[in-house]
Amino acid sequence: MKEYRKQRLRNASPSCFSRWGYSRRMQTCTHEFSGGQRQRIAIARALILNPNIIVLDEPVSSIDVSMRSGIMNLLKDLSRRYGISYVLVAHDFSTIRYLSHEVATMYIGQIVEKASAAEVCSRSLHPYTQGLLAAGIIARPGQGIKAILRGEVGSPINPPPGCRFHPRCPLATEFCKQVPPMLEEVLPGRKVACHLYKKGQTEAQVYNIREQIAREISR
Ligand code: SF4
Repeated sequence: MKEYRKQRLRNASPSCFSRWGYSRRMQTCTHEFSGGQRQRIAIARALILNPNIIVLDEPVSSIDVSMRSGIMNLLKDLSRRYGISYVLVAHDFSTIRYLSHEVATMYIGQIVEKASAAEVCSRSLHPYTQGLLAAGIIARPGQGIKAILRGEVGSPINPPPGCRFHPRCPLATEFCKQVPPMLEEVLPGRKVACHLYKKGQTEAQVYNIREQIAREISR
């Protein structure tokens, strides 16, 4: 498979590389390129196979902040022009918000929240998602970090019983430690796996719980 991919790359016509703004020189001199340039080369290599879907695992996390918007705009442009879908794996919510339509938050291998990117990034429901968002560095200098999730991530080999997030959750109860919550739709298009939320709650009740969690997370 490795040889096959190498051969495809060697056979790629110069026009294929120039189509994405690269020269064939990039195939042999990758050590000379910056993180942003290497990322563009990786994207070009993936596109040679004319994929419908590309998995992007932390596509801009190792790139200088000044280069990130260029890569993200390139990805958006390629998606629009060629109908490519992405499965994005990332921890940075500004990247997620900019590139995604739908978001699923995972904790130790389980989806704990699922909704549109706009909803998750602006009004997340699950305590873990809220903690991740709160831990993000604020764009205003001098304000540092708002909050950090306490404790360590549990082992996926031997996950905590009940709700997997309970050892780190400031609202965990005895019930949470024993019974795993199901992923349920609590509002139209909004799914969450947390015992605090229940089917049939009104929108006002759901967002009151969300506010209660936000207060606990930021203490
Ligand atoms: S189910 Fe309990 S422990 Fe898990 S996130 Fe909700 S409140 Fe926290």
